[in-house]
Amino acid sequence: MNTIADNIKAIENQLPQGVRLVAVSKYHPVEMVRQAYDAGQRIFGENHVQELVAKAPQLPADIQWHMIGHLQTNKVRMLMPHVDMIQSVDSIKLLRTIEKEAARIDRTVDVLLQLHVAREETKTGFATGELLSALSVGELDNIPHVRVRGLMAMATNTDDQQQIEREFQLVSDTFSLIKEEFYAGHDEFDQVSMGMSHDWPLAVKHGATLVRVGSAIFGPRQYK
Ligand SMILES: *Cc1c(COP(=O)(O)O)cnc(C)c1O
Repeated sequence: MNTIADNIKAIENQLPQGVRLVAVSKYHPVEMVRQAYDAGQRIFGENHVQELVAKAPQLPADIQWHMIGHLQTNKVRMLMPHVDMIQSVDSIKLLRTIEKEAARIDRTVDVLLQLHVAREETKTGFATGELLSALSVGELDNIPHVRVRGLMAMATNTDDQQQIEREFQLVSDTFSLIKEEFYAGHDEFDQVSMGMSHDWPLAVKHGATLVRVGSAIFGPRQYK
């Protein structure tokens, strides 16, 4: 059986320069995160605030923790001391809460705006039009403790590769449009997070700069 280290190396070997791997460690124990860390992995993604907050203090401080799951505003305060990037910003209300809580502890936090492109209704995120109009009316202005770094998205869970590729391309096109219209000259708006275990090569083909891979590194999750 492949080890965690082998799995990470196999993926890293295929990633172009400038594309970073987020190891999605949700539902996996601290010992497995440690094995990935020992293999050189530094960016980890978690879906639940409680789990991220429990794991982070038990692991080396140079790990970058990314929140990738739906985030409730009442959990932002608890998350803020431990998180490096919040990838799953899906409402202006959440963004405003993140600004407030980052300011409260005098830090700056990186975020991605989550775009809804998948067919499933259950996947959260901004509709493209909704995000563009929020940007146009200045709803993302005046957040000095938040650095908006780009977009995050999930493709439809399907075997139809063309469908997945269309969705990834849509995310890339939306990223370029938003950068040109609203973040021209902002070098920090430079990240597109998309692609999971089964579709990350397609995401890379369509411009991902962060891929979020769980089961292809750690094996199947043990849901309790
Ligand atoms: C769980 C999860 C992943 C990783 O999924 P795998 O199929 O295990 O690679 C990526 N992104 C998000 C948002 C997730 O919730």
